[in-house]
Amino acid sequence: MADRLHIIGGGMAGSEAAWQAAQAGVPVTLHEMRPKVATFAHRTGSLAEMVCSNSFRSDDSEQNAVGLLHWEMRAAGGIIMETADAHRLPAGGALAVDRDPFAEAVTARLLAHPLISIEYEEITALPDSGNWIIATGPLTGSGLAQAIAAEAGQDSLAFFDAIAPIVHFDTIDMDTAWMQSRYDKGETEEERTAYINCPMNREQYEAFIDALLAAEKTGFKPGETAGYFDGCLPIEVMAERGRETLRFGPMKPVGLTNPHNPTEKAYAVVQLRRDNALGTLYNIVGFQTKMKYGAQKSVFAMIPGLQDASFARLGGIHRNTFINSPTLLDDQMRLKSKPHIRFAGQITGVEGYVESAAMGLLAGRMAVAEMTGTTLPPVPQTTAMGALIHHITGGAEAKTFQPMNVNFGLFPPVIAKGGRKGRQVRYKMYTDRAKADWQDWLGLREAAE
Ligand SMILES: Cc1cc2nc3c(=O)[nH]c(=O)nc-3n(C[C@H](O)[C@H](O)[C@H](O)COP(=O)(O)OP(=O)(O)OC[C@H]3O[C@@H](n4cnc5c(N)ncnc54)[C@H](O)[C@@H]3O)c2cc1C
Repeated sequence: MADRLHIIGGGMAGSEAAWQAAQAGVPVTLHEMRPKVATFAHRTGSLAEMVCSNSFRSDDSEQNAVGLLHWEMRAAGGIIMETADAHRLPAGGALAVDRDPFAEAVTARLLAHPLISIEYEEITALPDSGNWIIATGPLTGSGLAQAIAAEAGQDSLAFFDAIAPIVHFDTIDMDTAWMQSRYDKGETEEERTAYINCPMNREQYEAFIDALLAAEKTGFKPGETAGYFDGCLPIEVMAERGRETLRFGPMKPVGLTNPHNPTEKAYAVVQLRRDNALGTLYNIVGFQTKMKYGAQKSVFAMIPGLQDASFARLGGIHRNTFINSPTLLDDQMRLKSKPHIRFAGQITGVEGYVESAAMGLLAGRMAVAEMTGTTLPPVPQTTAMGALIHHITGGAEAKTFQPMNVNFGLFPPVIAKGGRKGRQVRYKMYTDRAKADWQDWLGLREAAE
């Protein structure tokens, strides 16, 4: 009989990790602080509570990356997907869930499992020995958060995400934008062309500021408030401080020459920086914002070069505890400095119910493999699971690491025979490839043959 696996946090990730481990024959103790200790967002004492929207987003496994993640989790016997399917509400192509019966059912199934015991207690220190998964989510209890910060370093644990919007590279109009670092700084050609620059003339800049000031914004929730720290002011707050503030801040036009129009100096420049090793995603530098999503799309479409941009994620600022996974975790989601501890869920820097549960599924399986002396092959990066774990444990830029939803920009590009194909065809190629590789990884195709 294998040792016991301890999991801290019975949310989306912890519940899924517990289920995967117990189904594989490993005894689990799940430590959950609610209902004894509350958070500002949870309302109940149930495991796997959906704290805000009741949607698992698109269920289209052919054309959508989160739909593909649903498919992969179903194929792996995930409790979160199975229970969500059982409590599905009508919502077109999305998977909406009847939240209370869903959370109650996950709780009941885990409580009834002969290999799972649940301890209702808050854990406030890092365990010294044993096999552990920390899945305490965006609202990790403060004692444990402090212990993580003490182990990992204050700079490696964030309490807010200040997310700048992330754009799919292949939707940027490079006939308008160009690649250049300010003053051509850098030792290599790659460094000298590290940024994408989108130029604005005076008229365009003034119209952009007007749109920023007029855009609809969201406020902080009660209990979530934070004084903005100067390094990450939302762009609309900068614009409120003065019409020229952005031109002297993230949009300053200095040190750059537009090769499409070398004689005219831009009045302001929006810069984008590479966001992943594949070079398929770029973030807009310094553009964290509290504008509503609809407003972001229309305001950012005013940026020359981004008029047709598609966004891997939009900007935001939220209460969110997460670690700098690319520097702290190995490819098995273990803390490098204390490898008996794994991390899973939103605290690893993925974003969303489904992504969090997905990382719980992998962490549970990886813990089981280690505890039973078997070796799991690396999760293929061509799958939604693999794209996510690869991103957080190495593919993302550690310096600018911010929470990420699953999206096709995290996948190695598909090579289409006969040249570039339309989006629908490409997405189907991504998802076909992912499904085959995921089944291989699970051993399902071999078993069926
Ligand atoms: C306010 C808010 C709104 C959100 N809205 C959405 C949304 O609409 N859609 C979406 O997809 N995602 C949303 N998210 C993001 C995120 O996907 C969810 O929070 C998701 O539940 C994360 O899963 P998790 O398992 O990592 O964490 P959680 O589901 O939060 O689970 C963590 C669990 O750990 C417990 N815990 C924490 N610290 C300790 C401790 N020290 N000891 C013992 N137990 C502990 C908590 O009580 C909790 O049950 C939101 C996040 C927040 C904060």
